[in-house]
Amino acid sequence: MPELPEVETTRRGLAPHVEGRRVAGVTLRRPNLRWPIPPEITELLPGQRIDAVRRRAKYLLLDTAAGSALLHLGMSGSLRVLPGDTPLRAHDHVDIALDEGRGPPGRVLRFNDPRRFGCLLWQPPGETHELLADLGPEPLSEAFDGDYLFAMSRGRSAPVKTFLMDQRVVVGVGNIYAAEALFAAGISPLRAAGKVSRERYARLAEEIRKILRYAIERGGTTLRDFISPDGEPGYFELELSAYGRGGEPCPRCGRPLKQASIGQRTTVWCGHCQK
Ligand code: ZN
Repeated sequence: MPELPEVETTRRGLAPHVEGRRVAGVTLRRPNLRWPIPPEITELLPGQRIDAVRRRAKYLLLDTAAGSALLHLGMSGSLRVLPGDTPLRAHDHVDIALDEGRGPPGRVLRFNDPRRFGCLLWQPPGETHELLADLGPEPLSEAFDGDYLFAMSRGRSAPVKTFLMDQRVVVGVGNIYAAEALFAAGISPLRAAGKVSRERYARLAEEIRKILRYAIERGGTTLRDFISPDGEPGYFELELSAYGRGGEPCPRCGRPLKQASIGQRTTVWCGHCQK
């Protein structure tokens, strides 16, 4: 599943090809993905210039003066910029044709999503779509640090891992990144969020930022996969210390890593190194 680093890498890959281009047309090959696609997109978007490709949490926004197209890659979605005459493949659901002023065939921004958990929605200018309304800060923004986590967590008895994965607390810290950051910070995922000290939250916030930055950097090396006509979108793999390694030796102390379900998500941690 695309996580925040993949979505950010997609944004960085698309931006130079899409920003400043005018939309020549929109083709919807089905009326819905996870939710119905607002049909007015086919009327509102053509003729508009795409001023910016933005990311908020795991959503991408194509900003125009008429409003923003709001996209989510869901479980299996990908976006690529392709020559306009590229033959369709299965699950190519949406084309946004780009007018490049160079004559046909131009290029298209093509949305492919086999499992259809992604979405294409519309955000009118000056409004915030309800899906974006209650989101916490971006983990790579200045608003996110240890003091913020400390303040937000007071009085909370939920496990710190569940707290971190709450999108109202901070966006984009998925299961992998929560497990890895807690391992790096030496904090047990089971500890009550309200019982973690300010100092330990400072370390945790730093580890979250570090691993997300690292993953985004790694993604940069696979950027071409997002725009090549034949490549599969590259969801990059990281060397992981804890995630997916239950029962294996802890990379730090060698004792077997524990595994349990926390908040219905599989969690791996070291009972010795994480307190
Ligand atoms: Zn250990």
